Amino acid sequence: TLVASNIHKAFGDHEVLKGVSLSVARGEVVTLIGASGSGKSTFLRCLNLLEMPQQGELAIGTHKFTFGKGMRAANDAKLALLRRSVGMVFQHFNLFPHMSVLSNITEGPVQVKGMAQSEANELGRDLLAKVGLADKADTYPSRLSGGQKQRVAIARALAMKPDVMLFDEPTSALDPELVGEVLSVIRGLAAEGMTMVLVTHEMAFAADVSTRVGFMNAGVMAEIGTPEETIRQPRSERLKAFLSRFH
Ligand code: ATP
Ligand code: MG
Repeated sequence: TLVASNIHKAFGDHEVLKGVSLSVARGEVVTLIGASGSGKSTFLRCLNLLEMPQQGELAIGTHKFTFGKGMRAANDAKLALLRRSVGMVFQHFNLFPHMSVLSNITEGPVQVKGMAQSEANELGRDLLAKVGLADKADTYPSRLSGGQKQRVAIARALAMKPDVMLFDEPTSALDPELVGEVLSVIRGLAAEGMTMVLVTHEMAFAADVSTRVGFMNAGVMAEIGTPEETIRQPRSERLKAFLSRFH
């Protein structure tokens, strides 16, 4: 479903991604862990081309990009198609404050895909039920808890029917008592076979839900394997040191 090969990204002289590769099969859940500044968010942002890599290749479904000096400027239509097939959920939920919960969810399908409003409303209500917020359709985001906002953000991303969902520390901004409700929505998506790449510091959750866990260190994918391998049997001293912070 998703193949990223040799992704390089620098900001000025600062080389943040030094040739990162990752293949994610349909239905897989790959979790990325690693220290602050190791490039996790930058890599996720490269997967939906919020950041343009300077070198490497990316294939998601039928969308293929080759980056590099010889690359012709990627046209906007091609970018838009790729972004549509990749849903992203951020640490901060970025809901539209002036729109109801239901409108937040239907905006994308109606504006971008040209879906009829009535059909989008039906889809939106189904998705709200799925994330446990069936009764919040007409509420405004300011009236929701952080966990509820994040569940709306997930429903909004799902409304575009993405092939792959990316989550960048979806629970890091939440009060501890609200983390569980968001993780359980993500767990539900995993059980349904949604293909996902997520960055999280919730190690127990990562070990439980992931098909593979990758450890990023200084812009490279330093180790990747099953949760058992990466979290229970880390090979490098760096990964051992990183994991020791969570015990
Ligand atoms: P964290 O765990 O703190 O979220 P991270 O692993 O997600 O860290 P990134 O956000 O990918 O790390 O950042 C990697 C490096 O790239 C950092 O040194 C950061 O300062 C730098 N960086 C990220 N985005 C930009 C940008 N737009 N311009 C310049 N530097 C950037
Ligand atoms: Mg980050």
